[in-house]
Amino acid sequence: MAGFGEEIRRAARLLADSRYAVALVGAGISVESEIPPFRGPGGLWTKYGEPDMRGYDRFLEDPKGWWETYQQREGYAKELMDTINAARPNAGHYALVELERMGVLKHTITQNVDNLHCVAGSERLSEIHGNVFKLRCISCNRRFEMDEISMEQLPPHCPDCKGLVKTDGVMFGEPIPPRVLDLCQEEASKCDCMLLVGTSATVYPAAAFPSVARREGASLIEVNLYETPLSDACDAVIRGPSAENLPRIVEQVRGFLV
Ligand SMILES: [Zn+2]
Repeated sequence: MAGFGEEIRRAARLLADSRYAVALVGAGISVESEIPPFRGPGGLWTKYGEPDMRGYDRFLEDPKGWWETYQQREGYAKELMDTINAARPNAGHYALVELERMGVLKHTITQNVDNLHCVAGSERLSEIHGNVFKLRCISCNRRFEMDEISMEQLPPHCPDCKGLVKTDGVMFGEPIPPRVLDLCQEEASKCDCMLLVGTSATVYPAAAFPSVARREGASLIEVNLYETPLSDACDAVIRGPSAENLPRIVEQVRGFLV
């Protein structure tokens, strides 16, 4: 197996030579910003139990009740929001922004709902599972900032189409908003290099993107603490934290581009 430095160099070369690189990012990068994972030791679901798998149905059955509970949130929901509120982007998030500004990274697809890519400055971003700081109309799919929608009467309604408004984070049982799903599929099929960061990409729909990219001939780069089902299919594998390794890769890409 090639040495660690060799893998970093290989990853940088693939990115520097790419015409259209896309990143697919998962929870690993958020964990490095001290947002606890859902599963495993220290995970929120391990502590509070699995969340309601019928989340979206319950919202639809009683949106007013759902919003009242949301506003007085406690336990799992409170801890998650408190933690996300306190979290800051790490060097991995900023490295992705840097790659975007260098013109190498054309799009970032994230599975994370914590807003850290936006705070870091990513501009070409698809949040496939939504963003906990935003709201969304379930009829026309328009997204809103929290302060754009009046909460005087619950449930809130869309100013455009009068549809029901919910938090933007995709709930269990809720379909991924079609616009973002279509865009991600398009980006995955367009790319010739996919950078997989902190994701095992085993959960649909993210799981489909590396296969689509691969089928279209894209190279795959993995940056992950752990081995994943995709590791063997990757052209470069960097086994370690993204906050340390993405900046190293970016530095070398810069060297290749001058
Ligand atoms: Zn609407």
